[in-house]
Formats: sequence, C-alpha cells, structure tokens
Amino acid sequence: MQRSMLEIKNLKKYFPVKGSGFLRPRALVKAVDGVSFTLDKGETLGLVGESGCGKSTVGRLILGLIRPTEGEIYFQGRNIPGMDREEIRRMRRDIQLVFQDPYGSLDPRMKAGDIVGEALEIHRIAKGKDKEKRVEELLELVGLKPQYKARYPHQLSGGQRQRIAIARALAVGPRLIVCDEPVSSLDVSVQAQVIDLMQELQQRLGQAYLFISHDLGVIRHISDRVAVMYLGRIVELARRDQVFDRPAHPYTRAMLAAVPVLSPHLKKERVPLEGEVPNAINPPGGCRFHTRCVHALPVCSEVEPALSDLGGGHLCACHLF
Ligand code: SF4
Repeated sequence: MQRSMLEIKNLKKYFPVKGSGFLRPRALVKAVDGVSFTLDKGETLGLVGESGCGKSTVGRLILGLIRPTEGEIYFQGRNIPGMDREEIRRMRRDIQLVFQDPYGSLDPRMKAGDIVGEALEIHRIAKGKDKEKRVEELLELVGLKPQYKARYPHQLSGGQRQRIAIARALAVGPRLIVCDEPVSSLDVSVQAQVIDLMQELQQRLGQAYLFISHDLGVIRHISDRVAVMYLGRIVELARRDQVFDRPAHPYTRAMLAAVPVLSPHLKKERVPLEGEVPNAINPPGGCRFHTRCVHALPVCSEVEPALSDLGGGHLCACHLF
C-alpha cells in the first residue's frame, strides 16, 4: 500500500508546569493529545482552531524542534522522533518552516540576499557565483527584483519580508513547508498576494504545505483538506468543500457562524461560539467541547467521542453522528 508522505499517529505533547505548593506534583499542559492525520505530496492541509488549541505545537513537533511525549511522525517512511541530531539536520532540507512574523524570523543584521544564500551554504547546495545566481533566481521566483538582495529586513515591507522568508524556505528544495500563521501579521490585500504566490509556487514546484492558521477565510482559500483542532485534538477532518459547505462538528459550525458568510450552501448555526477555551491542564472529561456546546447530551460529559467516518472520508468526533 502506498504510504502518505507524512503520517502522524496518535501524537501527544504534554508540557510540565510547576505545581503551586510544596510537594505538589507538577501539572501537565496537554497541548497535543492524540492527533493523527496524513499529508500527501503536493497537498495542502489546513490546520485551524482557536489560539491555544495545539496547532502550532503540531508544527514544531513535525519540524523536530521539540520531541513528542508519545506518538509517531513518519516522514517519507522514517519516524522523526527516532532520528538523531544529524538525521534531523539532514531532514530539515526536506521540511522547511515559514513563520508568522517575518520581521522576527529574519536576522535584522543580514541583507536579504545573504538570508536566502545562507540556506544554500548551510546545506552545501551552492557557493560563490553559483550561490549569487541562485539567490537572484529565488528572488525572482517570489516576485522580487535582484536589487532587493542588498536590502536589510527593515528596508522591506511586511509582504516583501514574507517573500524573502518563502524564498529562504524554497532555497533547499523542500518537499513540505510548515506554514505557521504566515499571513496573520499582513494587511488583508497583502495576505491575498502572498497566498496566491504560495499556491502558484506549489503548482510549479510541487511542495506540500501544512498551513496553520486561526483564520477560516485564509484556510478556505488555500487548503485541499482541513483539520479542525480543539483543545489538543482533531474534532473534524475532511475535504475543504465538506468542511465549509457541510460542516458536521458543532465546534466547526459555531466557528463558521462567527465569520461573514463563506458559502451560500451553508445553513448557519444560530448560536455562534461563546466562552473561553477551557484550561489544557485540566481539560473537561468526555467530549472536550461539551462545556461550550449547545447540543450537548448527558453522554457528552462522560464519554469521549471517537473520530469516525461520516462517509466519503469526512471524519468527525461527536456523539450526534
Ligand atoms: Fe457537542 Fe456532544 Fe458533539 Fe461534543 S459530542 S460536540 S458536546 S454534541
């Protein structure tokens, strides 16, 4: 059987926090608590949820920046948590990252050309004149003229800085780019330009994206499939049209109710999402969403619903189905 490029199985990441008081055991923040999904070559999976749902932690785990508490992350058949430092360094050529804040992720003392060229040197892809030529090609690829290589990050606009961050990620020819809120800090018009650019680059180069965002409009625009996360777990996972035209999980429906009409086919939930996400140190028992769910049944606070197929690969974790 053909395996997906990326396979995440029952992934967990618990962060210890200090207990308050003498001899009190340390508590655990269950940032990611049993997440499974796959991602195919050239595909875009949108990972969406409110702040603190664990979506960025999933991205950091895939990049090997932190180790999981439990679970497996198979990339091209190899389990990332089982790799040593050297193997992770080599794997970084295949999995790159684009951050939310390009200003924070670009060294302010380096010129744009050196930032892009550094990746080529680190991975021994090109040096000298070959490197200079490749840097100019990469800048052109992301829609910047060669003269931009002499500019420092503070001499660039937010959109231009994010184009440099994308060029840096593409420099090593990755198969997967983890995009963590890559357009959240940009103006809406610039957001659209950067997303269009990312889609165009994917069509030309074939890299997959794990696109992490809290913004449903952005997720809808770019994703092939969408995974909705709530308090460390995936509650709905389906094709983009299934999630946006026929959302099943009450959390997804409530999130969609809070944004302007995204689909003429979508019958909106009357009650949009209210209240805060509960504390991940002590998440509610049963269905974690039951404290905010207007459809909650008695069973919901007792039994955790499993992610099951509603048909056509539309996965949902809810006792209503
Ligand atoms: Fe709501 Fe129950 Fe479904 Fe959870 S399982 S989303 S509480 S109806």
